[in-house]
Amino acid sequence: MRAAVRHVADGTFLVHGEDTNWVILTEGDAVTLIDTGYPGDRAGLLASLAEVGSSPEAVTAVLITHAHNDHQGSAEYLSATYGAPVLTHQAEVPHARRDFLHQVSVGRVLRGGWRPGVLPWAAHALRSGATANVAVTAPEPFPGPGPLDLPGRPVPVHTPGHTAGHCAFHLPDTGVVVSGDALVTGHPTARARGPQMLTDMFHHERATAVASLDVLAELDGDLLLPGHGPLHKGPVRDAARLARERAQ
Ligand SMILES: [Zn+2]
Ligand SMILES: [Zn+2]
Repeated sequence: MRAAVRHVADGTFLVHGEDTNWVILTEGDAVTLIDTGYPGDRAGLLASLAEVGSSPEAVTAVLITHAHNDHQGSAEYLSATYGAPVLTHQAEVPHARRDFLHQVSVGRVLRGGWRPGVLPWAAHALRSGATANVAVTAPEPFPGPGPLDLPGRPVPVHTPGHTAGHCAFHLPDTGVVVSGDALVTGHPTARARGPQMLTDMFHHERATAVASLDVLAELDGDLLLPGHGPLHKGPVRDAARLARERAQ
């Protein structure tokens, strides 16, 4: 499976997998990996690390925006094979372990199958491992508020709603916001382009997800790296407000 690597800021790479994005933050050959794509993205994930001059052995930590299969697909693999710790928000830890699963069911997707794009997306998602077991054995919560002592010094920002422990990551020095699924710029099931929320069925608590757009609107940045869709340039504040208007 292919993956397209895009250098977007100093030491910051946005990678487009088949349907999902991940982000690589580099410091020398050490990297922080934010999200890991679907299980089916693994070859692309490993190729993307090589393309930025790194390797899976050099992954200092795997950060998970949230524990859906299209973001957590290779987290346990990297942890079990290379010893990388997997970090996520305290409220997402049990979800990452699969104590429970807050992810849209196949049945609910099929009930929305009349919408343009839904069935082709669902077929691809199933092939990529949307229902595979990607439980992480020992996910760890972020150690505390503020920047993480990892390559890129990312700052977790709790943006619940899509899932209870969903986090964005802010890179204040480069004005980058990695928004995960709290704010995206496109999706195979969406007709609109540009900053927007995912379709309702994907959110665990939609009203909370809408409120989290206000959290993103407080962040100082002008490069938005979403979990789905292309890079968006321009004030993140405006992107979050636009998504909120569209959500009404
Ligand atoms: Zn998600
Ligand atoms: Zn996603």
